[in-house]
Amino acid sequence: MNDCIFCKIASGVIPSPKLYEDDKIFIIKDIEPKAKLHYLCIPKIHFALLTEMDEVKAELVKHCFQVIPTLEEQLGLQEGYRMIINQGKNGGQTVPHLHIHLLGGEVLGDF
Ligand code: 5GP
Ligand code: ZN
Repeated sequence: MNDCIFCKIASGVIPSPKLYEDDKIFIIKDIEPKAKLHYLCIPKIHFALLTEMDEVKAELVKHCFQVIPTLEEQLGLQEGYRMIINQGKNGGQTVPHLHIHLLGGEVLGDF
């Protein structure tokens, strides 16, 4: 059984309102926002690290980068935002299912 929280949200086992969804990815609000606006863009296929990349996963990540800019206004990110992908222990990754943080809604600090 897959215990991954983002897989469970992807499949609907754990309900979480999806601000965007298609057959490859979805976007939700982060449950513990680190900025005024904090979203997570999540591929539906489970993989943790960019080192696991293959053609299929690369398509998913590419798709994220194609979709996100089309949603800037809808998500309130039109004034700019920061994208973060945490990787592994030193990167502070707490959920081992690849995701892109989108932080905005205010001027962010240096780091
Ligand atoms: P990481 O630390 O792995 O880069 O980011 C994981 C993020 O997922 C954290 O910012 C955390 O707040 C968020 N998160 C963890 N569990 C849930 C959840 O059940 N729902 C939502 N919406 N976000 C979650
Ligand atoms: Zn997963």
